[in-house]
Amino acid sequence: MKLAQLVMQRCDELGAISDERGCLTRTFASPAMRRANKLVGSWMREAGLQVREDAAFNLIGGLPGTGRGAKTLLLGSHLDTVRDAGKYDGPLGVLVAIAAVQWLRSRLRCFPHQ
Ligand SMILES: [Zn+2]
Repeated sequence: MKLAQLVMQRCDELGAISDERGCLTRTFASPAMRRANKLVGSWMREAGLQVREDAAFNLIGGLPGTGRGAKTLLLGSHLDTVRDAGKYDGPLGVLVAIAAVQWLRSRLRCFPHQ
């Protein structure tokens, strides 16, 4: 499957995780957002990222830089939504970033982040 198709499929899957029936509502720290973090965390791990969730439920996937003094590159967006949200606002920025890491890891051995 092409990565673009994978991203669109994952947007659909995430779009189904909602606190309300019939529309997408995943407000901050809600049960649906926690479920979304769990699912996206598994996709991050699959892409080779180190995953953690901070005290404010921010999900953070890290790809450590190789080499001394390597810097950190940050990519991402949000997984929570407004009420009756669109399924791409937020998740597209997260899922494309995960796909980019997956693509880079399949082609590069080191990540100097200089
Ligand atoms: Zn947004």
